[in-house]
Amino acid sequence: MNPTDQPDWVALDRQHIWHPYSSIGSGQPVFPVVSASGVRIRLADDRELIDGMSSWWSTIHGYNHPVLNQAILNQISKMSHVMFGGLTHEPAARLAGKLVELTPEPLQTVFFADSGSVAVEVALKMAIQYWHSLGKPQKQHFVTIRYGYHGDTFGAMSVCDPVTGMHSLFSSVLARQAFVDAPISRFREPCNPADLAVLEETLARVSETTAAVIIEPIVQGAGGMRFYSADYLKAVRQLCDRYGVLLILDEIATGFGRTGKLFACEHAGIAPDIMCVGKALTGGYMTLAATLTTQEISRAISSGDPGLFMHGPTFMGNPLACATALASIDLLLDSPWQTRVAGIEAQLESGLAPCRGMPQVRDVRVLGGIGVVELKEPVDMWAIPQSFVERGVWVRPFGRLIYLMPPFIIGALDLATLTGAVADVVANLPE
Ligand SMILES: *Cc1c(COP(=O)(O)O)cnc(C)c1O
Repeated sequence: MNPTDQPDWVALDRQHIWHPYSSIGSGQPVFPVVSASGVRIRLADDRELIDGMSSWWSTIHGYNHPVLNQAILNQISKMSHVMFGGLTHEPAARLAGKLVELTPEPLQTVFFADSGSVAVEVALKMAIQYWHSLGKPQKQHFVTIRYGYHGDTFGAMSVCDPVTGMHSLFSSVLARQAFVDAPISRFREPCNPADLAVLEETLARVSETTAAVIIEPIVQGAGGMRFYSADYLKAVRQLCDRYGVLLILDEIATGFGRTGKLFACEHAGIAPDIMCVGKALTGGYMTLAATLTTQEISRAISSGDPGLFMHGPTFMGNPLACATALASIDLLLDSPWQTRVAGIEAQLESGLAPCRGMPQVRDVRVLGGIGVVELKEPVDMWAIPQSFVERGVWVRPFGRLIYLMPPFIIGALDLATLTGAVADVVANLPE
């Protein structure tokens, strides 16, 4: 885009705003957006981009959806917000009921958080408080696998991949957790016993001081876009039980249909002790997340010392966000979402197939509404989004990964444009 075409407010952005994982004054392009509708993002210069990202796993119904817009209007005319300490309201109560109904049966209580990272902090605190209540205050640490991503706050960061999470930068303030190698057994494959041996060896060593294992079920998202064996996840559940540690599943990226199941843990037929959801919870309309847990854990925390769960965000259970989430979940469940995600999966598979033979490519993998092209070399984070914008699509790679996760409502032609753009951009990368 020619800088003279840019609206005047872009200069304010350039001078004053941090973007995700950015620096100030880098001159790295940010594209001004004026509106978005369906799967199309409209730029200030009137160009339209087909969205391949669902704004980071969230806008599953596309942008500017009339049903979600109406749900917000209905709620805003009653109240946008009211504090949740000592007060409650219908949107939060009904959403909690819905989440309990849809998630695995043992999960019965809901803590509303204002972002995914906070939902993870809450999950870690719940696990620690649970063991404290049972007279095991030494169980304060966590076990996780490499290539994980759980958010950017300190607790969440402590269980993110140490390399991509840049743990060395924060070493004196970051809690030290146990990392084991991530499974090499891929999705749709049985589990290699070696994958489990490293986890079991670690649990055997540290279970006395471990509150929980925390992992992303089936799909490791921002830490590497890896899809692992459902048998591995099943075995992780068994190992947690055997070694007396809780299992926290972070479904923030995978929840609400993205992998072809409503929640990714369904691929393994297991239930966690604590589960985090976020991102697509409101259909990408606003920030809301939730941490669910069992009656047993809730009762233990509530009857132990201090008899309270120690967390309570100002905007907890925000009525606008809860009303939107309810409408988004109904919209999803009333839609043929399984057929749509299966259709996206089939088309990502065929549309990205040409990348498989390319010399720049290490691996191509597809699961549900997620298609990943893993390159041999990291991409140029400045140039590549520009090449995609020139092709009329919005795709934002990181590191060696170019990936698509479009809204579920995308049509076949638009999806073909997305996969075609990926194949074309990859083919034009230096070998
Ligand atoms: C995005 C993400 C988070 C963090 O959520 P935020 O809303 O960005 O704080 C945590 N876990 C997973 C798996 C995620 O994909």
